[in-house]
Parts: sequence; C-alpha cells; structure tokens
Amino acid sequence: MTLKIYNTLERRKKVFEPSDINRVSMYVCGPTVYNYISIGNTRPVVVFNMVRNYLEYKGYAVDYVQNITDIEDKIIGKAKQEGVSYQEITGRYIEAFQNDLKNLKISGFKSMPLATETIPQIIEIIKRIIENGFAYVSDGNVYFEVKKFPAYGKLSGQRIEEMKHQDAGEEGKKDHIDFTLWKKAKAGEPSWESPWGRGRPGWHIECSAMSTSLLSRSIDIHGGGLDLVFPHHENEIAQSEAAYPGKTFVKYWLHNGMIEVKEEKMSKSDGLKKEWILKNCLKKYNHNSIKMFILSTHYRSPLEFSDSKLIEAKKAVNRISNTLRNMRFLFQQQEPAGVEPELEEIASAGKKEFIAAMDDDLNSARALGAIFEMIKKINMLIQAQGFSNSQAVSAGLREAQVMILELTGVLGFDLKDEMGAQEDEGRLDKAEVEEMIAERQKARKEKDYKKADSIRQKLERQGIILEDRKEGTIWKYRGKDDV
Ligand SMILES: [Zn+2]
Repeated sequence: MTLKIYNTLERRKKVFEPSDINRVSMYVCGPTVYNYISIGNTRPVVVFNMVRNYLEYKGYAVDYVQNITDIEDKIIGKAKQEGVSYQEITGRYIEAFQNDLKNLKISGFKSMPLATETIPQIIEIIKRIIENGFAYVSDGNVYFEVKKFPAYGKLSGQRIEEMKHQDAGEEGKKDHIDFTLWKKAKAGEPSWESPWGRGRPGWHIECSAMSTSLLSRSIDIHGGGLDLVFPHHENEIAQSEAAYPGKTFVKYWLHNGMIEVKEEKMSKSDGLKKEWILKNCLKKYNHNSIKMFILSTHYRSPLEFSDSKLIEAKKAVNRISNTLRNMRFLFQQQEPAGVEPELEEIASAGKKEFIAAMDDDLNSARALGAIFEMIKKINMLIQAQGFSNSQAVSAGLREAQVMILELTGVLGFDLKDEMGAQEDEGRLDKAEVEEMIAERQKARKEKDYKKADSIRQKLERQGIILEDRKEGTIWKYRGKDDV
C-alpha cells in the first residue's frame, strides 16, 4: 500500500517518495522558550511524533530534528520584565519543555538544536544569501530582498504586491515586505559577533540554517502549525533556496490545524490561560488521554479544546485499556493454542483498515476508528452469553492484544503502561461490587446457582476475585500478582 500525504505547497495529496528510498529527513519548528507550552503547541509535537512513528512502521529510518528558539524579542521582553538574564528565562522554559516531552513520553529526536548554539551556521547561510544577491546589509542589519526571489509567495499562495509589512518598525529596509536575517544589537541586549557587526539572528533564518546543516539542503518533510505558513515557512523557502540555488528546500510541507477555544485561536500565546498550559493539563490527564484528544481529529482539521473533550478522550483510552485488561485475564486462564478464526479475522481486518487510514494522509482519526471497531467486536465476543474461553480463544485474544498494542503504539500511545499504572481506573467501585455480591448471595440462598455463577463470572471479568468462606464472601481487586 502506498502512503499519500497532503503537501501544502501543491495543495493536494501526493504519493510519498523520499529522496532516499530508505531514509526520511524531517524537520519540525519547535517552541520559542519564553513560557510554558500550551496544548496548542502540543498538537504538532504529538502529530509529528505520530508521523515519524508511522514512517518507521513503514520501514523507513527517520532523522527527526526539532529546534528550540532560545533568542527572540519575546524572550528578551520577558527577561526585562522579570529583571533577569535572558538565559534564566530560556533555561527555565527549556527545562519545562523537556519535562513536558518526558511526561508525554515523546522522544527519539535526532537532534534538538538551540538557536544560540547554531550562530556559526546561521552566519554562514546569511553570507551565502548575500553573496548570491538575495540580501543586503543596512547599518548593521541584514535584510532579505523579497522581490529578488520571484517564487516568493508560492507556499502561502499570496502575491507579493498584496502582502503586508514584515518586521514593521525595522529601519533601513528597501521594501516593507523585506524581512530581517540579522538584527543589529541594541544596548543591553544579547548579541554575537558577525561580519556585519554585533547582533542576533532573525527567527526565520535559524530554521533554514538548522535544517540545511543538520539534515540536508533538500529535506523530505517540513512540519509545523498552519499559523507558520506565512511568513515563517514562506521565508524559510526563500532563504534556503536563495542560499542553495537549484535545490528544492522541502519535498513535502505538512501543517497541522490550530486548536481553538470557542472561535479563539490558541496561537496567541500572550494571553495564555492556565488551563491551556500542557503542564497543567498533564496534572489531570495523562499522556495517553492528551494524545487521544489530539489524534481523534485528522491533523489538518481544526480542533476544539475543552475540558469535556479531554474527559471524553480519557474515557476512550479507558475503553481500550479495560478491554485489553480483560483480554489479558482471559488468555492467562488458559494455555493458548491454535487461533480462533473469528479473532484472527478481527485482528487482521483491523490492521488492514488501520494501514489504509494512515496511508490516506495519516488519518489517525480513522485509524483510531479501526482500533475501536476491534475493541467493539472483541467485547461482543467475550461478553456474549455462552462465551467459553477455549485454548483457541485464548490464543486469538493474545494475538489480538498484541495487534492492538502494536497499532496504538504506532500512534504514540503506551497502553501497556496504562494497563499497569491505572489498574484502578474503569473498575467497579466498592459499592457496586458489594451490591453484586449481595445479589449473588441471594441467588445462592434461592438455589439459583446458574445466576450466582454468572454474577461471579461477570465480577471476574471486571477484575474482581471472590473467595467464599464460612463466614461469608470476601473479595479483592485482582492485582498484578494474580494474573
Ligand atoms: Zn521554523
């Protein structure tokens, strides 16, 4: 099956063919570290982790680079506001971002470069752009001359004449649409030596410098939020293709949609609300729930954020992990042998539909639909009247569980972890258990052993173990040691 992905530049789905048939280079714009990351900034992190995993699942080796912008006006502004050094601000929020990634269980980057550690490469690429005639120096500033690059606007589909100002307020520009590559140092601001005097890099140039120096001058995938298409990614194309003429900077441009809160776009990070901060969301919802919230919608569509959406996502995760737990209990009751054909069919049909969905522009929403369909069919089977747990059923359940863990793993979930750590979630509570035990006692008194037995089985499936003693029935939740 062939993977097709939507390329923003061409505005259509295209068969994915990386430059190297075995290896994919992927660059995604990371955060500017002057605050905690919001759930909005979390979307590209979760989405492109899923993209990377799926490419690996298809057999590619993936070189995944995500930058961190650690020098920028907003950082300097925050440092001034707090009366501390800019390094204190960036140090604090880089650490917080790394903690967020750890809590999200997302890792495996080839590199996560900082802008301030890439200054030589940034100066190098600016020199090339100037030498090639696409940029000019003006009183210690270096500007990209947009009109010299006729393809400008190809990504965002805009015409130069209609474009608004870039970097308004900057002095000495030939044209309002020209943008800053190197910014002359102001007194008291962080700066570096350069051929044009002391200064610091503009934001856009760091991504061109990092992607071309750490990956390739022509990368396969460049990702980021839809809000970065213009001007950030438009400028990246202009810079990179001006520095390396004849090279197509990016083969596939992938952009995730925005997360919205009742018509507001969350990218306006200045007014970041407490409940939009990932760190705070992670106190209430674990990484699986957050991934479920994000991946239940196709990555290009807008996504509405609310607490109830996160609760829904948490319930969806529990639906899968509860079934996985019940399956585990059942297949550990029997020595699995042979494979029950119906379960074999559920697993293989589920995988087929999962791959078809992901091959169609990485449709994780549809892929999750395939997983829930598997869960539904398995539940129907194991909860059916007259269900009997044969060796072949046990083998089938074990196989189906491996498949579900494999496919959810491709999306970035870690449900094994969920099955262990959240043992108590989704369980019957004490009162419910006691009510069912009382009902069973009543049935036994009335010599309705069939009913009593069915209640016991029902409780067992929910992970409740009963022990009948002379003095009455005692019960406990099944622990890890009991399975
Ligand atoms: Zn970027």
